[in-house]
Amino acid sequence: MNAAARYDARIARVAEALRERGLDALVVSAPVDVRYVTAFTGSNGAALLRASGTGNRFFTDFRYRTQSEEQVPAAFEREIVAGELLDALMGEVGDGGGRLGFDETLTTVAQHRRLAERLPPGWELADAASVLAKLRRVKDAGEVESLRAACSLADEALSATLERGLAGRTERAIAVELEQHMRVLGASGPSFPPIVACGAHGALPHAEPRDVEIPRDVLVTIDWGCVLDGYCSDCTRTYATGEAISARAREVYELVLAAQLAGLDAVRAGPSGREVDAVARAVIEAGGEGEHFGHGLGHGVGLEIHEPPRLSRTASEDPLLAGDAVTVEPGVYIPGELGVRIEDLVIVREGGCDVLTGLSKDLTVVG
Ligand code: ZN
Ligand code: ZN
Repeated sequence: MNAAARYDARIARVAEALRERGLDALVVSAPVDVRYVTAFTGSNGAALLRASGTGNRFFTDFRYRTQSEEQVPAAFEREIVAGELLDALMGEVGDGGGRLGFDETLTTVAQHRRLAERLPPGWELADAASVLAKLRRVKDAGEVESLRAACSLADEALSATLERGLAGRTERAIAVELEQHMRVLGASGPSFPPIVACGAHGALPHAEPRDVEIPRDVLVTIDWGCVLDGYCSDCTRTYATGEAISARAREVYELVLAAQLAGLDAVRAGPSGREVDAVARAVIEAGGEGEHFGHGLGHGVGLEIHEPPRLSRTASEDPLLAGDAVTVEPGVYIPGELGVRIEDLVIVREGGCDVLTGLSKDLTVVG
């Protein structure tokens, strides 16, 4: 399917979702949502989509005239706007009345007031926050290829960084080099600031890299990802900087790996994110480290680094769907001592999942 056909299919799915929800049109203004429906990558765009599937409009300002001509599919009538995009959009909603969906989780109070003031007679505003979120979580073939490419680029960047070793360099130097490799290899940037945390610092799940030299014979957790073609990657590996790591470090590593493999094995269309979390968590609990695994097992990834669905103790009981892109990332964090996390990004399939990360998970010494 070429790009134009892919966006036509996407627009048709949005229209169908609007009809199912009893909405007549949808305001799209968050940049990732605008990108999802129109392919536009600029910072100032908005779209009006209709449940009829026709009469869709795209709005931007003069800076993006050429870019929007190149990117936005013919299914949208394009308009260059001098003032506020939402004002222009509301001017095109039309007569006749109906229900106009907007995302209340992404709309500021000021924007909402603007929408309400400009609402044509007969129209009412209705929350449509879940409409695009639901569509975005299930990736089409083109999106899966983008995610796969982002993951292999990130793998390659880490391999290049590890060639010069870990011990004797600072956490921050590793993070900076990793980020640089990702950009040189073609990423538009990191999907989040890389985490590089050695020894006891690894017990902080969201540790910030320090200007501290990494010693020999400790564990180092590296959590990193890149953005390629708009799509994020997310991966974590934990390495040893020598053979003489503590017995506890080895035990914890093997436990987290066993939990990660059990989690991967449980991922498929059908069970909920809560159930898959429970499978991996049971392994860590049986190993006596349940209290040291304080976060959820994983999260959705796509145009954003954290998206629905969640895999956690408090996640929804709705089933995972074929096409969901989720991470599986158990961790054990022992304060003052060490931390281990192992993370892969996978595509949920009927009966299993495709792992997009290619790096080994056997405990590996990188001196
Ligand atoms: Zn991560
Ligand atoms: Zn993650």
